Amino acid sequence: MSQAELFDNRPKVRKKKLNLLPENPDKEARGRFPSWLHRPLPKGSNLWTTGHSVKGKKLHTVCEEAKCPNLMECWSKKTATFLIMGKECTRSCGFCDIDFAKNPEPLEADEPKRIAESVGELGLKHVVITMVARDDISDGGASHLAQVMRAVRSQNREATIEVLTSDFEGNESALDTVLNEQPEIFNHNIETVRKKSSSVRHKATYDRTLKVLRYAKEKRPEIYIKSGLMVGLGENPSQVKQTIRDLKEAGCDIITIGQYLQASRHKLRVQEFVTPEQFEDYASFGRSIGVANMYSGPFVRSSYNAKAVLDNAKKTI
Ligand code: SF4
Repeated sequence: MSQAELFDNRPKVRKKKLNLLPENPDKEARGRFPSWLHRPLPKGSNLWTTGHSVKGKKLHTVCEEAKCPNLMECWSKKTATFLIMGKECTRSCGFCDIDFAKNPEPLEADEPKRIAESVGELGLKHVVITMVARDDISDGGASHLAQVMRAVRSQNREATIEVLTSDFEGNESALDTVLNEQPEIFNHNIETVRKKSSSVRHKATYDRTLKVLRYAKEKRPEIYIKSGLMVGLGENPSQVKQTIRDLKEAGCDIITIGQYLQASRHKLRVQEFVTPEQFEDYASFGRSIGVANMYSGPFVRSSYNAKAVLDNAKKTI
């Protein structure tokens, strides 16, 4: 694959950035992003190296499929979040731009091996693995995720692992399959406040997410439990703070909060660009009720700076 093909991401990302703009939330938002959502493009050749490894192994990343605004920054630092079990999801959430399919392609038996090889190529010390929701498979894909973790560990003994999973429809046996592999971080996002949950998510519910997180913490207290939400979907600060409280009570050690951005015209519109001061207020609130690891800011995503987040958790919890 030529360098030109790999760098095809650059103009695509720039073009799609325009599509991230809301269609009509308010006058200011319609024309441009606010100043705090502007930042310089990263430099260096690692962007190419990351793309080469991922594409060379025919892997998917949520960085690309979800049109993450941090792609160029993260790939320039040689980090990416692997998206396993295909790039079609059996759910169709209002915020997420991953393609929907009722019956996605079958699982690929050699995907665990290819991921492990890519981890080795990139020299990743912390590996973040996420998945599409596979409600078409009896265990939701838990066994496949377990195989990926085992493959990564077998070839990369020092690597720590973070999984960002679906809710497995609340299936405890599927959760056990994942938790028994002892990832360093078990991450399952609540995505939004209770009031917005039914319009933002499809199938997943606010209470089931809390149940999944609580179950994971009780079952494996030694694993860090992480969850996150997006803001800018029309929620208010007191609802966000209640969600932080609920996550803390469910056993979360780490909470991420970031600005929702509309990835395509078919997705939910941005209702508000939350200010950096408001993000800081959420972080302070979380810390005040005992969540030592609060990551709240416009560009924060579940897997943003994931290794640094883990390192910090090890120091504080
Ligand atoms: S924040 Fe996560 S999903 Fe976004 S580019 Fe970085 S690693 Fe990928």
